[in-house]
Amino acid sequence: MASLSLENVCKVYPNKFEAVKNFNLQIEDKEFIIFVGPSGCGKSTTLRMIAGLEDITSGTLKIGDRVVNDVEPKDRDIAMVFQNYALYPHMTVFDNMAFGLKLRKVPKPEIEKMVKEAAKILDLEKLLDRKPKALSGGQRQRVAMGRAIVRNPKVFLMDEPLSNLDAKLRVQMRTEIAKLHQRLGTTIIYVTHDQTEAMTLGTRIVVMKDGLIQQVDTPQNLYEKP
Ligand code: ADP
Ligand code: ADP
Repeated sequence: MASLSLENVCKVYPNKFEAVKNFNLQIEDKEFIIFVGPSGCGKSTTLRMIAGLEDITSGTLKIGDRVVNDVEPKDRDIAMVFQNYALYPHMTVFDNMAFGLKLRKVPKPEIEKMVKEAAKILDLEKLLDRKPKALSGGQRQRVAMGRAIVRNPKVFLMDEPLSNLDAKLRVQMRTEIAKLHQRLGTTIIYVTHDQTEAMTLGTRIVVMKDGLIQQVDTPQNLYEKP
């Protein structure tokens, strides 16, 4: 059973612009799917529709067997990590990570436990009392991921999560994301401009252009053909 499926999904913005046209994709459990393509080809729009941050104009989005077109973002079994981290500057690392759980009315002792577990996985245990401005770029990125993993979602969406980091940190975080994928056994959909990231992380790569899927294949077939 596919863990996520998009069937004829289209997005027309209110100004009539067709950003995504007839998007069809079946994603299996535990896949690491990469979206690539030029700026403006519809990658973020697709991710945002999956997250529920943008309405689907037509077509069907399923998570497992469940049609989620009209399900609120917080009730989808999905977490999204943004390019700009989107951390709350006035909150500590702990509160940033706990925020989504509080929103879902998870009991306090359970929140404590879940946040601490995620902090352990991401090596943030000693930073839980800090505010984002007292963290390095890589640490902020880990908090943003921590905020997503505390919810133990079935599907992770990552929109260029490493693009604001310097080259060295990017390589390091890439390895961490690969480990996280192994360790959590979740499905990941990941947008990137970086071919090395696409090749090393992806189980399959979706190439988009002008709102359409051009090609879907393994990194080996896409990049390593003679
Ligand atoms: P990508 O993530 O691949 O760079 P986006 O999904 O952000 O592309 O955007 C796809 C296209 O839709 C772009 O041409 C963009 O200008 C347009 N677009 C994005 N958001 C809106 C919006 N709210 N209203 C109108 N057009 C939009
Ligand atoms: P990205 O760097 O992910 O491609 P953009 O800078 O294209 O993102 O877009 C940032 C935000 O602006 C998004 O929320 C997107 O929906 C919105 N946006 C992008 N293009 C347009 C547009 N043509 N009209 C209105 N909103 C847009």
